[in-house]
Parts: sequence; C-alpha cells; structure tokens
Amino acid sequence: MDHHARTQNEKLEFKTTTCYMCACRCGIRVHLRDGEVRYIDGNPEHPLNQGVICAKGASGIMKQYSPARLTQPLMRKAGAERGEARFEPVSWEVAFDVLEKRLSHLRATDPKQFALFTGRDQMQALTGLFAKQFGTPNYAAHGGFCSANMAAGMIYTMGGSFWEFGGPDLDHAKLFFMIGTAEDHHSNPLKIALSKFKRAGGRFIAINPVRTGYAAIADEWVPIRPGTDGALFMALIRELIEHDGYDRAFVERFSNAAELVDLREDRDTFGLFMRDPGAPEVNALYPQNHLWWDTRTDRAVLHHTDGAQPALEGRYVLEDDTPVAPSFALLREQVAHCTPQWAERITGIAAETIARIAREMATVAREQRIVLPVQWTDSWGKTHDTVEGAPVAFHAMRGLAAHSNGFQTIRAMAVLMS
Ligand code: SF4
Repeated sequence: MDHHARTQNEKLEFKTTTCYMCACRCGIRVHLRDGEVRYIDGNPEHPLNQGVICAKGASGIMKQYSPARLTQPLMRKAGAERGEARFEPVSWEVAFDVLEKRLSHLRATDPKQFALFTGRDQMQALTGLFAKQFGTPNYAAHGGFCSANMAAGMIYTMGGSFWEFGGPDLDHAKLFFMIGTAEDHHSNPLKIALSKFKRAGGRFIAINPVRTGYAAIADEWVPIRPGTDGALFMALIRELIEHDGYDRAFVERFSNAAELVDLREDRDTFGLFMRDPGAPEVNALYPQNHLWWDTRTDRAVLHHTDGAQPALEGRYVLEDDTPVAPSFALLREQVAHCTPQWAERITGIAAETIARIAREMATVAREQRIVLPVQWTDSWGKTHDTVEGAPVAFHAMRGLAAHSNGFQTIRAMAVLMS
C-alpha cells in the first residue's frame, strides 16, 4: 500500500476518557489510527484540566503498549518455591477455576481468612463491595497506606475534607500554604490555579522537607523535618490564640469552641460535651443539645440560644455542681507549652519563622477579609446574606497523612484552619 492510499483509508478518531497516570484524573483525548493509540492530549472540554496535559499523562501510551504489561494471569510454576519468581501464563478459565475452589472453601469455613488488597485503581467501590459480600473485613486499597488520614482527620474534626479532586479556593485566597503535597494530587488544576494565583499577587508558602515540583514556584519554601508537621500546627494555633489572631466570631458560632466540656474526672462522661437532656432532639445523629456559658446572664444555656454571648475562656460550675469549661479554654491550655521555640526543636524550623508565619496568617485574615454576596442558611436555621472568610488557604496531602501521627496531625491542621 503506498503512503497516499494508506492515508485515504485509515481510520482516525479519538476517544475521551480520564488519565490515570496520577490520581488527578485529567480529561484526555486518546487519538487512534486504525484502532492503535498514536498520541494522547488534554481534553479542552474537561472542566478539571481544561485541555492541559502533563508529560506523564501524555506518555500514558507507553504504559498501554509496554511489553512488560501483564495481559494474562500468571501462576507459579509447578515445583517453584514462593519468591523464586518463576511463573507461567495460564488461561482465564484456569485462573478462575483455581480461585473459585480456594475462595469457596474459605467462604464456607472462615471468610475472614480472605484478605483483599487492591492497588490505586478506580474501582474501589466495587472491590470493597465484593469483599463485604464475601464476608471479610480484611479489605484495603491504596488510600489506607497513603492519605486516608487526610479524609478521616478532617471529617472527624470539621465534617469534610479536601481531597485529590478538589483544591483550595485560590481565586479568592491571598495567602496559600501547601504542606506535604506531591505533584500527583489535584495536579494539573492546581498548576493552573497556582499560576493565576501568583499572577494576581498571591503569596505562596510551601512547607515540605524537599523543594520540588509545586514548591519550585513558591515565594517561600520552609523545610521541615518529616513527620513533624503536627508540632508546627500546634505552635501556630498557640501563636494565633496568644496574640488574638483568631476569628472570634467564627469560632463562637461555627465551631464547638464555646461548648462546655464535662470536667468530672470520676465520670465516664469526663472530657465529653455536656448535654441538656431536656433539649428538643432536632436530629438524632447530630443532637443540638450542647451547652454554652452565657456571659450576659452568667449561666449555662442551650448552645445557639438567641442573644446569648458564649464564653470562650474560664471555668464554671453548673447548678448541679458539675465543673465545666468551654472547649476553647481547654485548647488554649493544651497548646500553652507549644511555643515556637518548642516547635523549632521538633520541626527544625526557626522559632522566628514560625512566629512570623502566624503573624502573616493573622494579618491577612484580618485585613483582607473576603465577603461574597452569596446567601446561605446555617445549621441553626439562621440565614446570612453573605459568605465571609479569611483568604488564607491550605492544601495538604500524603506528606502529613502517611505517618503514625497522621490522624492527629490532620486534626491539628483542621483546628488551625478553623
Ligand atoms: S496531572 Fe498529568 S498524569 Fe496526572 S491525571 Fe493529569 S495528565 Fe494524567
């Protein structure tokens, strides 16, 4: 076939899908000639990456056609020992036959002996369902070893988490902290947003043991000893509280900072929020029966009582002699020793830098407050005409999460953000 004839008859087309060369899942167009992948580019119609593709995504073709790619089941050769890496290809029928025998035996005897670990695929809803139906709790996937603390810590602390598909609001932020993040989370969208953010004059501080990737364009890189981010957050929380750099109105109304904690050490309820058992149960899952100490009437009231001015500090005694304190007062005590000097010894970041970062956060939050004309109703039924906030944004990921202290580190970050 001469070249001309071939181009006349060949079939050129592209298929739209999502890239999975990293966790970002950019929209891509896979261009085919006669059914064979020729090249991959970004899908301009895709809302996430808007046509942008990175080198890794564009080279997805190499994975598709790699001679090392597994295309059929492999079984250990007869007589080979485990770990010898001597396999032979078998048909799917043989593979299913072997698995069916082994799995049905386990399912009939003790399903928990079956442990299912999957990789970073896009089917964890299905593989998890399979494990559950099989009857084993021994199921895990990539996230359990990576960023699961990111979700668990933030959801536990403030009811939601940012994740690899959602990024910070860099359209409105003025100061941005990126902590413990590699390039494979929210990758291309974050690069697009960062370039807009920097052009608009935003300040970008990267906190990471190494200066790579995103941090290359940071205004300031703050190297930190791996796994010590929690100490940094605790020191920043302390600085903001000590120097009145926090948003009092926000923490009063939209966090449980003012809610009273039971301080009776001999009770099972020690350390838990006090509840008014007589309060109407608005929602069984989130009972709205916590208490505030109202500084106007100097007594405990149901939280979010109209006209009440909740205390954030101090210790009080209820009518039945129960000693209580607002949780904010306990937080202040908890972080009292977490000075910048204390954190310097743990994180390796100079105390002056930690104190200065806290000042910067407080100044930007106070002086460049954003007010968006968006009406909304809060959990207590109060309607607000605007959304207000501090234009200080955070993005963090595995670098914080994948440590034995990851859960508490993420909790500390959520408290700091609040
Ligand atoms: S950032 Fe690159 S590798 Fe990751 S999903 Fe997007 S195109 Fe693929």
